[in-house]
Amino acid sequence: MKKIFCAILLLTLTTCLSGCGDKAKETNANDIPTEVATGKVSEPKDNGKPAETKSDNAKSDETKSADEKPAETKPEVKPTAQAQEGKDYIVAADDFSNLQLTDPSIPVYDKYTIWERQEKGLPVALPELVPYENESVVYLTFDDGPDDKITPQILDILKAEGVKATFYVCGNMVDANPTVLKRIFDEGHAIGNHSYNHNYNQIYASPWSFMEQIIQTDNSIKNIIGVRPFIIRAPGGAGGMFTANYYAMVDDCGYIEHDWNVLTEDATPAKPNASEQINNVLKYLGDQPPRTVILLMHSNGDKVETVKALPEIIRFLRDWGYKFGVVTPMTPQPW
Ligand SMILES: [Zn+2]
Repeated sequence: MKKIFCAILLLTLTTCLSGCGDKAKETNANDIPTEVATGKVSEPKDNGKPAETKSDNAKSDETKSADEKPAETKPEVKPTAQAQEGKDYIVAADDFSNLQLTDPSIPVYDKYTIWERQEKGLPVALPELVPYENESVVYLTFDDGPDDKITPQILDILKAEGVKATFYVCGNMVDANPTVLKRIFDEGHAIGNHSYNHNYNQIYASPWSFMEQIIQTDNSIKNIIGVRPFIIRAPGGAGGMFTANYYAMVDDCGYIEHDWNVLTEDATPAKPNASEQINNVLKYLGDQPPRTVILLMHSNGDKVETVKALPEIIRFLRDWGYKFGVVTPMTPQPW
């Protein structure tokens, strides 16, 4: 593992020298470790888990085009009190000694990038943490934002319902909508890293290509809120996209990946309406709803039906006794 991480740092340095924060570097075939240069990608793990579809993600990328954002429909960004460390979010200690938390509704961030940790001689890989399984918790997660149309409407609903959620953001969306990212942070929601550009061909060219986009997105996030996430979500889900080398690199670099076990299917080609999305959630919850529910939704593009479905989804989950948490390094895996 050390070898892999050393390779990361060497390549990070190379990348930074050639311009960190620039558009994601095109993958150079010479950078790809031999074990993945063959294009060998594991078969998706079949746990009955529905995967995010590639066609949908291609669509997600299209929605990131700046000319598709109708300025006239842009909701007013309401002023929000700044998030307070210790109350609204936790910052990891240098040695991670404060990370075994007992409250599943407070986001956890790092004040250092992984590169800064390495430079200071601090640990980079996270310690073993006991997952939070004391009660039934639902983690509402919204991928592919932040945009300036759907995400603010979702934030309004979350505020009205008094619940926290997790937003797995893409770096290019963060760069385009910094005030929305700041609002997510200030309102006490968790921010996770969902790659820089969601481009499968680039992200999954190699484990390093994946990590390069994670580091680039960390930089975009940290430039705006001053801290960076530990939590990541692989576009398409790690279960369907990762080989052992990807998992090893994620571990070595101190990130925690979470897929999902319930979804509205709001990003599938079927484009379910609000009531169909609610039914989809009920379908995945089944007769014996799991104790930990990680619910996948999206907060970009044309997801107006997600906005319509959200209040009802929150209400019945609350009625069923779920607490609303945000994803942290202590969040149990959904499978
Ligand atoms: Zn996505």
